[in-house]
Amino acid sequence: MTYETINPTTGKSIQVFPEISDAELERVLATAQHAYEQDWRSRSIQERKKVLSAAAALLRSKADEYAHYVTLEMGKLKNEARGEVGLSAKILDYYAQHAEAFLKPRALTQSAGAELHLQPIGILLAVEPWNFPYYQIARVVGPQLMVGNVVVLKHAENVPQCALAFERLLEEAGAPKGVYTNIFANIDQVGRVIEDERVRGVTVTGSERAGAAIAERAGRNLKKCVMELGGSDPLIVLEDADLESALNGAVRSRMVTTGQCCIGAKRIIVVGKERGEKFQADFIARLAALKAGDPAEITTQLGPLSSKKALDLLLQQIEDAKQGGAGILLGGKQIDRPGFYLEATVLGGISETNPVYRQELFGPVASFYIVESEAQAILLANATPFGLGASVFTADLDRGRRVANEIDSGMVYINQAVWTAAELPFGGVKRSGFGRELSELGFNEFVNQKLINVAPSGAAPSGARCSPVKKRDLHTAVAAVNTASLTSLCAYRLVLQAFGSIGLLTRNRR
Ligand code: NAP
Repeated sequence: MTYETINPTTGKSIQVFPEISDAELERVLATAQHAYEQDWRSRSIQERKKVLSAAAALLRSKADEYAHYVTLEMGKLKNEARGEVGLSAKILDYYAQHAEAFLKPRALTQSAGAELHLQPIGILLAVEPWNFPYYQIARVVGPQLMVGNVVVLKHAENVPQCALAFERLLEEAGAPKGVYTNIFANIDQVGRVIEDERVRGVTVTGSERAGAAIAERAGRNLKKCVMELGGSDPLIVLEDADLESALNGAVRSRMVTTGQCCIGAKRIIVVGKERGEKFQADFIARLAALKAGDPAEITTQLGPLSSKKALDLLLQQIEDAKQGGAGILLGGKQIDRPGFYLEATVLGGISETNPVYRQELFGPVASFYIVESEAQAILLANATPFGLGASVFTADLDRGRRVANEIDSGMVYINQAVWTAAELPFGGVKRSGFGRELSELGFNEFVNQKLINVAPSGAAPSGARCSPVKKRDLHTAVAAVNTASLTSLCAYRLVLQAFGSIGLLTRNRR
């Protein structure tokens, strides 16, 4: 395994980064544990917020510098790279602003005295891919640092400068040493980190292969994990859909990040022969017109693939599709220029036995299907091992909802291609993984949702005891304890209740 910047626009190696030694890795984990136990977990939400907000502001103020590393290392178009930097800043800001509300203790009103308190769990290992080198990290760091967890990150080997840039970002934003650490680790070391007792959870975004290997190791060590894996999202265009809007959605979704997007619309499914043929012709014309070139040039519309490995895999998949009887309706070949460029490609006539029928095509390659009915479209949409996102275009929103309900995926968008934002849950089913990132759902993945059950002194051994603490009183009491103002009346009440419970426990033991 080599952490190396290879410019995919030229194919030239720029810099190699040494792997971390075992001794240094041990120091990283010890520092992270110390930072978690002695500092970060007990910092106030306001202090954590200051760090995350500063990181978001720095990302915005140095957007061009951050975007440059992305374009340099994985070939993303300049404007898209800037867009990713902006989105990452929004995610950090979102959690900085909403964590207080997410972390508020809740009274469980159906059981008197029962309260739910959210607490951090410790060090998390994040394993992330190269296709959105900052956004993927922001999805983990935003919520998890605000919860009070600390993060050790293993990034993909082809984006080491992006990995180091994000580590610098948090350092400059004021994160104490050990709160966020990048490691250039090899697979063996990743395995040992997962097994380490100090590490309490693992989150992975990447391929099924990586997900299965890491989830197996995490499972053997009883570690919670979240898996954000591959996808082969269908984009369904029903008979009543606005064709122009569906076409815009399909082109954008299939080609963003040169087609290397997990929620890209990889399978275009149009209902109706005549409309399908027109849509297919227009789709092909739009893809054929894209101008390939240097992604750092603002006029370029089709950049390189991220690596030679990615290019070779896609060329092989296209060949396999052809051997399996598919038609190459557009492209299909490497572009004759330096770097890792593939022509925008459209495949048609893909039968159920064709290998690409069930594979993910991670690049500028669309599979096009024309079907006769809504029922066939749904069957085809679900005929994949994946279940990440999907979209349905229709003029009838109720029909859209009904079709959405029949699709096996974690996200369905009606009349838009799938997109992502800090406030929307993200994740899939089937071989696309499990768990969620983003929104309050993502925030809660690595927290200890602790039950604290409060009974007054002298209460019966079990069962209903007293009327639930009013939500407002509970929040005030916890805030008072958090700010250490034990003299406040509310905190006094909480402490009395706690002593009541302890007294009860001791009495019961006697
Ligand atoms: P990948 O090979 O699985 O790499 C992802 C990360 O996992 C990298 O950091 C990689 O490190 C690491 N890794 C791979 N095998 C590992 C193992 N056995 N143990 C520990 N770490 C391991 O993914 P990719 O093919 O480059 O990325 C594209 C895939 O990611 C696509 O399938 C795409 O759909 C998926 N993806 C999913 C989402 C989502 O949210 N669901 C988002 C983006 C991408 P190295 O680079 O060092 O190998």
